[in-house]
Amino acid sequence: MLPTIFQQAVPVLKKLEKAGFEAYFVGGSVRDFILGRTINDVDIATSAYPEEVKRIFQKTIDIGIDHGTVLVLEGEREYEITTFRTESSYADFRRPDKVEFIRSLEEDLKRRDFTMNSMAMDGEGRVRDPFQGKKDIHNKLIRTVGSPELRFSEDALRMMRAVRFVSQLGFELEASTLTALEEHSKLLQHIAVERKTMEFEKILDSTWKQEGLNLLIRTGLYKELPHLINYHQQLQEAASLSGLDKLTKEQTWLLLLTYIREEERGVFLKGWRLPTKMIKYRAKELDILKERKASGWTKPLLFRAGLEAALNVEKVYGCLNPQADEENIREHYHKLAIFSRQQLDVTGSDLMAWADKKGGPWVKEILYEVETAIINETLTNEKEEIRRWLKACNRL
Ligand code: ATP
Ligand code: MG
Repeated sequence: MLPTIFQQAVPVLKKLEKAGFEAYFVGGSVRDFILGRTINDVDIATSAYPEEVKRIFQKTIDIGIDHGTVLVLEGEREYEITTFRTESSYADFRRPDKVEFIRSLEEDLKRRDFTMNSMAMDGEGRVRDPFQGKKDIHNKLIRTVGSPELRFSEDALRMMRAVRFVSQLGFELEASTLTALEEHSKLLQHIAVERKTMEFEKILDSTWKQEGLNLLIRTGLYKELPHLINYHQQLQEAASLSGLDKLTKEQTWLLLLTYIREEERGVFLKGWRLPTKMIKYRAKELDILKERKASGWTKPLLFRAGLEAALNVEKVYGCLNPQADEENIREHYHKLAIFSRQQLDVTGSDLMAWADKKGGPWVKEILYEVETAIINETLTNEKEEIRRWLKACNRL
């Protein structure tokens, strides 16, 4: 029996077949099925041309029609249906200048990057595997389809993809694939930063990060990634941390940042074109980490961090200091008297009424004092108590 995600998609294949075309599941879904991994999305390849696909299905969206891809909405799901195609004349080491639609499955499979990614499966679960992808999966090997020199020169992003798959699957690069990668790593300079970042983030999100980072170093690919050329030794140190594989993607970014010179950290993340919101969040975590290192966790520090940042910081601290006892952040955090300023049992208007004074910076100052006292548990979060306390301190 095929997994449900394929079964749900079988009617899509059948519709194409009924109209006289060939149709198969292809790419990552077939690979992950053979591997017994969770299947994220099912891609379909067909001998039907895009216009033909659009005639067969009622609801379609042109998402990449020039490259032969039509999005089909069928049942509750969406499927990318791509016409069999070849790619030719890669003038600039990245995407092809020309794609040509064809009617042959085998030719389509030939243009795919690695043997494990160039299998196709029909609706009955029969697998077409002209490049012995199954065998390579069994031997845990990543091997290009055809000459690795040629395939990496055609599209240099494939080298990042190769490392990313090593990192995600715990596989090794087949010998000639590795050699070609070492020899062609410089070509990665032609690839847009955003696309490199996407692959790098998949490495940071993976199970075998140490392998992935070590391979980036060993092959020289790291030199073509934003700023890393200046941080060879630091990258090596980070890659050698035994706790690395247990970190999330966000935590690994934070960890990497600890190796970057303080004044360069903002520029470093901007170089990877990461979202501003993410950059700001990591900056906040770095501040918290600095304090955690200097004086350990205190209630105000936990409050300022919030649970998510505190957990990230502690995890990274533990990775950098494996001898230290990891604090039970969740437990400490949940014992805090309040979790946000909104929870204070006093507002700015209360203060103004009590003091019979107009608003101004003083309101914020007093709220901060009240908040700190409550977090430190020297004051109870109760309106009358707060008023008495302020009076006793001559603050009203
Ligand atoms: P993931 O599970 O991360 O999505 P994937 O293998 O499905 O991995 P996609 O980027 O979704 O990766 O690509 C789908 C398929 O298209 C691949 O399995 C591969 O057959 C082919 N492919 C993708 N990128 C390239 C490339 N740069 N060169 C050649 N073939 C590629
Ligand atoms: Mg995919």
